[in-house]
Amino acid sequence: MRRLKNYINGEWIDSKTEVFLDVENPGTGEIISQVPQGCKEDLDLAAAKAAEAFDEWRNFPAEKRIQYLFKMKTILENNADEIASICTMESGKTFAESKAEVVRAVENIEVACGIPTMMQGEFSEDISSGIDEFVIRQPLGVGACIAPFNFPVMISFWFFPYALACGNAYIVKPSEKVPGTMTRIFELFEELNLPNGVLNLVHGAKETVDAILTNSEIKAVSFVGSTKVAKYIYSKGTENGKRVQAQGGAKNPLVVMPDADIETTTRIIADSVYGCAGQRCLAASTIILVGDAKEKFKDKIIDDAKSKTTCYGLDKSSQMGAIITKESKIRIEKIIEDAESKGAKVLLDGRNKNVKTFEKGNYLLPTVIENVSENSEAAEKEIFGPVMNLKYVDTLDDAIKFINTGRYGNAACIFTTSGSAARKFRHEVLAGNIGVNIGVPAPMAFFPFSGWKESFFGDLHGQSKHAVEFFTQTKVVIERWHEEWTRKF
Ligand code: NAD
Repeated sequence: MRRLKNYINGEWIDSKTEVFLDVENPGTGEIISQVPQGCKEDLDLAAAKAAEAFDEWRNFPAEKRIQYLFKMKTILENNADEIASICTMESGKTFAESKAEVVRAVENIEVACGIPTMMQGEFSEDISSGIDEFVIRQPLGVGACIAPFNFPVMISFWFFPYALACGNAYIVKPSEKVPGTMTRIFELFEELNLPNGVLNLVHGAKETVDAILTNSEIKAVSFVGSTKVAKYIYSKGTENGKRVQAQGGAKNPLVVMPDADIETTTRIIADSVYGCAGQRCLAASTIILVGDAKEKFKDKIIDDAKSKTTCYGLDKSSQMGAIITKESKIRIEKIIEDAESKGAKVLLDGRNKNVKTFEKGNYLLPTVIENVSENSEAAEKEIFGPVMNLKYVDTLDDAIKFINTGRYGNAACIFTTSGSAARKFRHEVLAGNIGVNIGVPAPMAFFPFSGWKESFFGDLHGQSKHAVEFFTQTKVVIERWHEEWTRKF
C-alpha cells in the first residue's frame, strides 16, 4: 500500500507520525493509499523552510515569479486527464466534473499571472510642497491553506497561485480524504524548479491544522470546509495574530417563478442539485416553487432528477458519482428518515439502490422530498448529498423572507423571465453569490468567491483582487526631497 509523503523544501519526506489513515475510493470501496495523520513536527519543519525561502523569493521581481505560474498552467493542461482520473478515484465525482476542476484551477493561475499590474501601488505627487506620498504592496511571509474533500484540485488554487505571485512562500494542506490528487500535482510541479521551500505540501488532519494555527511563521490562513470548523479556524487563527479567510458550509435556495422557462429550468435544477452528488458548496438544496410554479414544474423536476445515471465516476455512463464515505452516506440517509418521520413525503427515493458492478461503492441515487417540517434536520442542516427539498410559497416576497432567515449565505438563485423579479431578488437576498437563471453561480477567478453569514468568516474572499489584498500588506511612504539638497553636477 502506497504511503504518501510530504513535500518540504523541494524534497519528498516521510511524516514523523506513526499513524496513517486509509484513503478509500468512494466509487469502488477499494483502499487506494494511506495518508499520514500529520503532526506538529512536519508542519513546523515546512513553515521554517518556507520562511527561509521567503527571504529570497520576495526579492524575485514579480515578472520573474509569474514565469513559474505560466509553466504551472501548462503542466496542469498537459496532465489534465491523469489529474482528473486520480481526483475521480479519490472523491467519487465523475471524470467530467474532475476535469472541470482542472479548468477552474488553470483559470486562477491565469488571473494570478496578472500580478505585476494587480499588485501595483498608488502614488500622489506633492501632497504638500515637495512632498510625495505612495503606497506599495508587500508580501506577508508564509501562507497556508486547509482544503476540504469536495474539490481536491480546484480549491487550493483559489489561494496559492496568488500567494506565490505576490512573493509569499506557501504550504498546502489537502483534505486527508483526498490527499493523492494534490500529491500527484506536486510531483508534476517538480518540473518547475521553484526555489526550494517556496511551495510545500503537508498532509494531515486536526493536529496539522492546529499546528498551522499556532505556528508563528505562518501569517495568513485560508480555509474552506464546514461551518463548524470554519468558525474554529477563524477564531483560533485570528487569536494567534494571523489573517484568516474561512469559507464555510451552505444550504442554497433556488427560487422558481411561474414565468420561468420550463425546459432550461428543470434541467439546470437537476444539474445543480445532483452535480458532484450534491457535495458542492454551491449546489441548490431547497427548491422554492412560487405560486403556480408548483403545478407547472413539480413533475418535470422529478422526471429530470430520475433521469440522472448514477455510476462510478470513471464509467462513461456516469452522470452522478459516489458519496465521499460510508459514514457520510449513512448520515444523509438518516436525515431523510428524520424528515420522513416528521411528516415529509419522499417523492423520489434514492436509498437502498445498488449500482451494478460497483456494489461496494457509497451510492445514493437522486432523492426528492417535500413538505419538510421546520424542526427536521433536512430543513436546517447542510445535507451535502443528492437530496432535493421541494418547498412551496405564494409569493416572491415569501421566498425572499424564507431565504433571508436562513443561517447560511453562500448562494441563492432565481429562475424567471421577469427582469423586475430578478432585480428585486438580487437586491434583497442576503447571500454572497447570486444566480439569475444560473444553477451554480460559481464566480470566475477574476471575481471573489463571495459568501455571507455563516458561509464565510473574514473580510477578503478567495480569488481575484481580494486574493491579492489578502496576500499583501500595504506600506505607505511619505517622502520629502528638497531641490537644494541635490548635488549640483
Ligand atoms: P471539513 O470542515 O470536515 O474539513 C475541511 C478541512 O478541515 C480538512 O482539511 C480537514 O482536515 C480539516 N478539519 C476537519 N475537522 C477539523 C477539526 N475539528 N479541527 C481542525 N481541522 C479540521 O469539511 P469537508 O467535509 O472536507 O468539506 C465539506 C464542507 O466544505 C461542506 O460544509 C461544504 O459546504 C464546505 N465547502 C465550502 C465551500 C465554500 O466555498 N464556502 C467550498 C467547498 C466546500
